[in-house]
Amino acid sequence: MIPFNRVVIVGGGTAGWMAAAALSKTFREKISIELIESEVIGTVGVGEATIPNIKNFHLLLELDEAEFMRAVHGTFKLGIEFVNWDNLGDRYFHPFGPPGVESWAAQFHHYWLRAKGQGDVADYGEFSVETSMARDGRFGMNGERKPNYAYHFDAGLYAKLLRGFSENLGVRRIEGKVVEVQTHPESGHIESVKLESGQVVAGDLFIDCTGFRGLLIEQELQTGWEDWSHWLRNDSAVAVQTESVSSLSPYTRSTARSAGWQWTIPLQHRVGNGLVYSSGYMPDDEATRTLLDNIDGKTINDPRVIKFRTGRRLKQWNRNCVALGLSSGFLEPLESTSIHLIQNGIIRLIKLFPFSGIDEAAVDQYNEDVRTEIEFIRDFIILHYHLTHRADSPYWNDCRTMQVPDTLLHKVSLFEGSGLIAQHPYDLFADQSWAAVMLGQGVEPKGHHPVVEMADDDELRQFLARIRASVRQIVELQPMHRDYVAAHCSTPEHAA
Ligand code: FAD
Repeated sequence: MIPFNRVVIVGGGTAGWMAAAALSKTFREKISIELIESEVIGTVGVGEATIPNIKNFHLLLELDEAEFMRAVHGTFKLGIEFVNWDNLGDRYFHPFGPPGVESWAAQFHHYWLRAKGQGDVADYGEFSVETSMARDGRFGMNGERKPNYAYHFDAGLYAKLLRGFSENLGVRRIEGKVVEVQTHPESGHIESVKLESGQVVAGDLFIDCTGFRGLLIEQELQTGWEDWSHWLRNDSAVAVQTESVSSLSPYTRSTARSAGWQWTIPLQHRVGNGLVYSSGYMPDDEATRTLLDNIDGKTINDPRVIKFRTGRRLKQWNRNCVALGLSSGFLEPLESTSIHLIQNGIIRLIKLFPFSGIDEAAVDQYNEDVRTEIEFIRDFIILHYHLTHRADSPYWNDCRTMQVPDTLLHKVSLFEGSGLIAQHPYDLFADQSWAAVMLGQGVEPKGHHPVVEMADDDELRQFLARIRASVRQIVELQPMHRDYVAAHCSTPEHAA
């Protein structure tokens, strides 16, 4: 055993069980892990779309993909389709993989922009394997160019899977509600938590996974909050599940409504639907009606309203407490980034684990890394609102005309002028993602990189035609998504 070895996780949602699984897998018997959760309080119960990096987390856990997919009734996700975001009736796709072919000097969109300037009207999505597969409703691994993908899963089943995994590795689950937190009178470090039953659980490191309430990090340690609601004005969501009625789309759909947007997430056994909105522009009952008016299939539960605040905790690691998940901050789910932030928080914690006690330099490093990463994601999400051309409601007028962070202004004006994209190593979204959203929402760069002028007009035309044909060829090799799931990873009761 190492000296600083008692980890107490409070909260058993996605964040709590992901932390328990990864820490127990990495450190085994070198640390003891106790996880406290309360069935009476329950979990937020949403959070079912991911981004491709989650595959790395599963590699760390050595989870078999087919077993995982069967357990969580999962489906595959090639990206997000955005409907009505630029103008009503428009749609574009943000794929997970890079389009076309690129040179070291310039990304593919520069070639496409030059051809477009010469009158070529081919849609940008036709050069992307992921976009074209998604539009055809196909998914598969045939051929040499495999798609980049993530998953949709049932959040409750994911936590259940990780709970079994963690308990097998020795994590001890304690059912009960934490009602009191004891801290050291001088250092302010948390020493123990007390449950309603009177049981006291002591530890060296506490991980706050208590959701929006931030029981340890905020209610006890009063860490502070940076509010981002002037940029990300949604503060509510209403969620409802429906029976599956149509083919299984291999992507998440985000449809903009008059004061927010609606998600559609297809799983094997049901569809997750929700409307994320700003209650200042749309009251809860109107949001619920809007959602129910715009879903297919019979509802299988009652619509549930969830309230949230966008922003971040000033420190995600404070004293001997690390906040993961909703207790650490929330950006709204537009690009499915929360589970990814949990994953990265856990990996950072493992790398900086305080084996011999809290080291303030390591704590500062952790907080700085998290801050940098989340600010890039924040800018990427604001981008979707800022670039709209919609002027059909006060909500969209305010989004379109709001002052955005300088870091984002710089990115947009660089792209508008030259098609260039400023890329930072901590930016989760690669240049192809920024390009997909900016082009999708109607930005027309005034220029392109001169390296694409090295080809003459004919060469460029042939180059693009070859890419388009090869994308088509790859796409047509793949089965329909539903058939792929049925053949590889369907949950037995949904196999039919
Ligand atoms: P919770 O699920 O709220 O869990 C909190 C836990 O703490 C529970 O187990 C509870 O019992 C326990 N607890 C609380 N208080 C106490 C106490 N006093 N004593 C004992 N236990 C206690 N993320 C994505 O990546 N993709 C998405 O598509 C996505 N969609 C979302 C949609 C919406 C509308 C919202 C609000 C969030 C979405 N998220 C999404 C975020 C995602 O849901 C969360 O990041 C994820 O579920 C983790 O939540 P959590 O574990 O931090 O909190």
